Amino acid sequence: MTTNWAGNITYRADRIHRPATVAELQALVAGSRRIRALGTRHSFNDLADSSGALVSLADLRSSVELDTGRATAKVPAATRYAELVHFLDERGFALPNLGSLPHISVGGACATATHGSGVRNGCLSTSVSAIELVTAGGDLITVERGGEHFDGVVVGLGALGVVTSLTLDLVPAFEMRQQVYEGLPLEALDDHFSALVHSAYSVCLFTDWRAPRLTQVWINERLDEPPADVVKQPWFTALPADGPRHPVTGMPTASCTEQLGVPGRWHERLPHFRPDAEPSSAGDELHSEYMLARRDAVAALHALDGIRDRVQPVLQICEVRTIAADRLWMSPFYDQDSVSIHFTWTSDTSAVLPIVRLVEQRLAPFAARPHWAKIFTIAPPDLRPMFPRLPDFADLVRTYDPAGKFGNPFVDRYLH
Ligand SMILES: Cc1cc2nc3c(=O)[nH]c(=O)nc-3n(C[C@H](O)[C@H](O)[C@H](O)COP(=O)(O)OP(=O)(O)OC[C@H]3O[C@@H](n4cnc5c(N)ncnc54)[C@H](O)[C@@H]3O)c2cc1C
Repeated sequence: MTTNWAGNITYRADRIHRPATVAELQALVAGSRRIRALGTRHSFNDLADSSGALVSLADLRSSVELDTGRATAKVPAATRYAELVHFLDERGFALPNLGSLPHISVGGACATATHGSGVRNGCLSTSVSAIELVTAGGDLITVERGGEHFDGVVVGLGALGVVTSLTLDLVPAFEMRQQVYEGLPLEALDDHFSALVHSAYSVCLFTDWRAPRLTQVWINERLDEPPADVVKQPWFTALPADGPRHPVTGMPTASCTEQLGVPGRWHERLPHFRPDAEPSSAGDELHSEYMLARRDAVAALHALDGIRDRVQPVLQICEVRTIAADRLWMSPFYDQDSVSIHFTWTSDTSAVLPIVRLVEQRLAPFAARPHWAKIFTIAPPDLRPMFPRLPDFADLVRTYDPAGKFGNPFVDRYLH
């Protein structure tokens, strides 16, 4: 049976359907007892699995519809960002932000509040202005921003139906340059975290936790904005990298987007990885990620520094990003300007899980919300209060899907 991208989850679903038309999909959903949408399989837990069947929309014959007047694009859910960004850029449009990997599907990314970085940038789901989905009875419905339940439907975790297309708000295309700096002591963040993350459109901080320092600082500036003068401050002692870098120190850089301050298109700088290459790890990794109030970032990093000897043996790299608050019910950024602390672990699940638990204990005082699509062990009773609109979402799931057709053990665990 099929596995996820990382190979740590073998889907239990008995088959994966691949309808060629929306009408076929509607009939399939209406006639199924248990079914669930599958994107590009980049999630790291059993969120995407089904105890019945899965359905991939990769064979649906549809294309992106651009509305230049409204600056929106109606995008088939199975479209990968890697394909979409070229289409948009060639026509003078952009998305405000992208995740680190462009190979993931728009439907899967938005269903789980996938994000990039930048204090002014919301997660990718905040670009959605309308969503079209096939509900449990096989009906095709559209839910639009401003309409009832919209804020509950967008980050839907696959639990409300099979999303066939998403309409995304666009911005004019822009150019960026990306520069990597190396070796900033953690203590520099004590007084300057805010200045650092506000210094450019998208800033990503990396540490391997072998020492209390950032191994790398990735500063991504828009060419139409003032340059990041934070790098001229006396406390910014990190040095510009003398060549391209992979976030994991020493890994081959061929799969990484261009750095060294070379100007380029928005979609060739915002992700860490190039659309035409798989990351060098090729799936040999596990991910966890936690989101907390941005004001707690420095305290949380110090809390993790206290366990770095335990963390670093199973860690490839830890990344810190910022995300603007949103109003999407199941988003980990709901109502909270956030910092995310991400861990790329080694692929040894049994060695990683105890450290995941330890990290969660250290971050518990900050009510750190997990990324829905990554590995976490937070018990359902501890998780539910972190998502204030979770009871509303559970009601919505009951309304849309009274028989639990789109349910699975993951959803049942956390929602009910
Ligand atoms: C190398 C790597 C890098 C990553 N980088 C980032 C990052 O920078 N930022 C970040 O936030 N996350 C990141 N992620 C996590 C990733 O964005 C999420 O796992 C996302 O859900 C993957 O989308 P997918 O299409 O692979 O979804 P899948 O894993 O296939 O499915 C995930 C969920 O989406 C639902 N879903 C998928 N398609 C549909 C649909 N058409 N209708 C309804 N529900 C649907 C599924 O039912 C499931 O619940 C990364 C993952 C990997 C492997």
